[in-house]
Amino acid sequence: MRTTDVVVIGAGAAGLMCAMTAAARGRQVLLLDHANKAGKKILMSGGGRCNFTNMWAEPENYFSQNPQFCHSALARYSPWDFIALVDKHAIPYHEKKLGQLFCDHKSRDIRDMLLKECDEVGVDVRLNTAVRKIEKQGDGYALRTDIGEVACASLVIATGGLSIPTLGATGFGYEVAKQFGHEVLPTRAGLVPFIITDALKDLCNELSGTSVDSVVRCNGHSFHENILFTHRGLSGPSILQISSFWQLGDAVEINLLPDRDALEWLEGQRAARPDAELKTVLSEIFTKKTAGLLSDRWFVSKPMKQYTAAELRDVADKLSAWQVVPAGTEGYRTAEVTLGGVDTREISSKTMESRRSPGLYFIGEVLDVTGHLGGFNFQWAWASGYAAAQVV
Ligand SMILES: Cc1cc2nc3c(=O)[nH]c(=O)nc-3n(C[C@H](O)[C@H](O)[C@H](O)COP(=O)(O)OP(=O)(O)OC[C@H]3O[C@@H](n4cnc5c(N)ncnc54)[C@H](O)[C@@H]3O)c2cc1C
Repeated sequence: MRTTDVVVIGAGAAGLMCAMTAAARGRQVLLLDHANKAGKKILMSGGGRCNFTNMWAEPENYFSQNPQFCHSALARYSPWDFIALVDKHAIPYHEKKLGQLFCDHKSRDIRDMLLKECDEVGVDVRLNTAVRKIEKQGDGYALRTDIGEVACASLVIATGGLSIPTLGATGFGYEVAKQFGHEVLPTRAGLVPFIITDALKDLCNELSGTSVDSVVRCNGHSFHENILFTHRGLSGPSILQISSFWQLGDAVEINLLPDRDALEWLEGQRAARPDAELKTVLSEIFTKKTAGLLSDRWFVSKPMKQYTAAELRDVADKLSAWQVVPAGTEGYRTAEVTLGGVDTREISSKTMESRRSPGLYFIGEVLDVTGHLGGFNFQWAWASGYAAAQVV
């Protein structure tokens, strides 16, 4: 049986960070992944440019059944620590908006940087390697894997969540957690597009590819970014954000005129351009096609002077508080993250170590910690991986 100090299962964002940091401390680290490439989600992320962190990441950008849990790790490995690593490798990047840092070139820069760091400190990376069995053995763990039996003092589970199975996502981490007596909180897809099946579907279909600046609200949360109409329903940053707070049956309120008082603006337009049709007025804000479709489908488009006060209020209400009831989400097939996961109340917030089984650690998305859209999920992967790496 081969022996090593640390086995990390999952060569994604959190696993790579943990492996390279632990090995830099002098630990002998074996990093296993069943996929044929390391960091597949990093490669796919940020539309190919990896939104690798957010300069303004704070605990408030995360949600969990245990909101205090993420504080310690985020404080001890900040976005600036990761930026320093990116700078050390001379990877060019830029702020797209709202503190979101993206690679100038491609996501591969980040994945290769992490692999290079692993290589420099002697991490043994084994891909195409499944773990068949895990058992407690003395103070450590014994694993049956595709590369033989392995014994280790510390075992780190970094196998992520369920989103995008074609990128290697599995429920493996949840099964290990249960095996060692942990509770796994219910999981569901987060940061995911909505599917619309009611009368609104035709509008979404016709406007597919159009994006509109909006404020989207649901269950006390709101986000001001674009929505994107798709053939299947609604997507775009503000829809992905709100999807994490949405439950089946909930209505989502969309304000398509976020920067103005809708009624005041429409009344002003009626006074200034009484003969202009509503669709012409709306085309100042939306594309001509969008203005035309909204006017024709939702209202009777006629000259502004013909609208009564009540009719104008209806138009304003519809545009500023459009109520949409999605039929569902696109699910794990396209979700960026998995909500829920290993209950953090049984995990040390300082070290990520299991309180039930010493020497066992959980990091990254497998835990019940989920970030908003915008680089926060990678920052959690880096920070939690770094925290565990200090003690494994
Ligand atoms: C399309 C897409 C785009 C995204 N873009 C961004 C972005 O720009 N910014 C951002 O902050 N977040 C983004 N995210 C979210 C981010 O990718 C994840 O939150 C992050 O990768 C989680 O890191 P992790 O290491 O916990 O899990 P992962 O990165 O998912 O890594 C888990 C690893 O475990 C391996 N694994 C799984 N099961 C097993 C098993 N049974 N045996 C062995 N290995 C196993 C997998 O192959 C994988 O390599 C995106 C997600 C997706 C899907």
